[in-house]
Amino acid sequence: MDCIFCQIIAGEIPADILYQDEVVIAFRDINPVAPVHLLIIPKKHIPSLTHLSKAELSLIGDMVNTANQLAKREGISKSGYRLAISCGEQGGQEVPHLHMHLVGGRQLAPTLG
Ligand code: 5GP
Ligand code: ZN
Repeated sequence: MDCIFCQIIAGEIPADILYQDEVVIAFRDINPVAPVHLLIIPKKHIPSLTHLSKAELSLIGDMVNTANQLAKREGISKSGYRLAISCGEQGGQEVPHLHMHLVGGRQLAPTLG
């Protein structure tokens, strides 16, 4: 298995894991761009948004729900935060395992991209 996020799921690479259930797992980004920078990913290896089938769409809801709960736990629910999913090369995706960024804890730039 050469997917770094699958290795984190399998416990083969350490990560600061904040939450997991049967479907998703969330951990701190190794290179945070803000005081709170978490990654929420499906446990199933799905390379990117473009590989997500219609039957798997509920995963996105599970990921958003996890992000919202963690935002509360991190104390940024009221101040605000951003959820972002990069897809593919020009979308800026570096790790080819679907993941959602939860970023907050400071004023974020107003623009995307
Ligand atoms: P992308 O650019 O693909 O949207 O985001 C990939 C993110 O994964 C980056 O923010 C990067 O810092 C993070 N990342 C890459 N490798 C690791 C790792 O081994 N552990 C953790 N916790 N984060 C990682
Ligand atoms: Zn993977």
